[in-house]
Amino acid sequence: MDHNQSIRCTVDECKFHCNKDDYCTLESIEVVKHEPKAKTVECTDCGSFQTK
Ligand code: SF4
Repeated sequence: MDHNQSIRCTVDECKFHCNKDDYCTLESIEVVKHEPKAKTVECTDCGSFQTK
């Protein structure tokens, strides 16, 4: 599966994850926060995630 060399990702539960290695196959993704104010990396997520 072709992947986007600019988007590294280890979330292999996502249907857009490259199965061969740790990259995303989408052309672009949206990164979101799930806290009113993001203070740490844990406050951010990939908003383009979809389950397999
Ligand atoms: S959509 Fe997001 S979570 Fe899914 S493979 Fe791409 S970067 Fe990872």
